[in-house]
Amino acid sequence: MVVKYNCITRLDNFYFICYTLTMKTCTKCKIEKELKEFSNNRWMKDGKNLWCKICVKIKNKNLYQNNKDRIIESTKKYYKQHIYKCRKRNREAYLSMMINKPWMSSYRHAKERCNNPNCEKYPRYGGRGIKFLLTKEEVKKLWIRDKGWLLNRFSIDRKDNDGNYEYKNCQFIELVDNCKKQKVDRG
Ligand SMILES: [Zn+2]
Repeated sequence: MVVKYNCITRLDNFYFICYTLTMKTCTKCKIEKELKEFSNNRWMKDGKNLWCKICVKIKNKNLYQNNKDRIIESTKKYYKQHIYKCRKRNREAYLSMMINKPWMSSYRHAKERCNNPNCEKYPRYGGRGIKFLLTKEEVKKLWIRDKGWLLNRFSIDRKDNDGNYEYKNCQFIELVDNCKKQKVDRG
């Protein structure tokens, strides 16, 4: 009996350790969550933050909203002081994006055309009521489906010119073909 008892407690301990290794309680919202819900923090014993990702996001958003003007001003000031360093970093980030995730440029530009009123092309897209409903994952799927790497200069195209940017309505085609299509549509 003693042996059996020992076995059970050992197993219990084992499961308890496994459980504590995969679960953690957020100290902010007091909810127990999986470890992947916490960002990495190498200064902590278990390598994870005390707050979950959602709580950190809310805190950062509030912080930005409350100090918006100050943050924008200080960012601009930093950019002016370290202009070459910043430009270099931006260029490197852009190049790495174009190499590793080329579809992201299409994603960003299309989103901007639909959602940003300051964008030059906004009147022909967002101004006409065209909505941007794609996610990054969907754009990636489209890119793989249409073999974007085989195109000379790829561009994201809506099959129906009055339709939204949706998975069913979008495809990657040559930029030249896309421009021709736009001319036909405009008359
Ligand atoms: Zn939390």
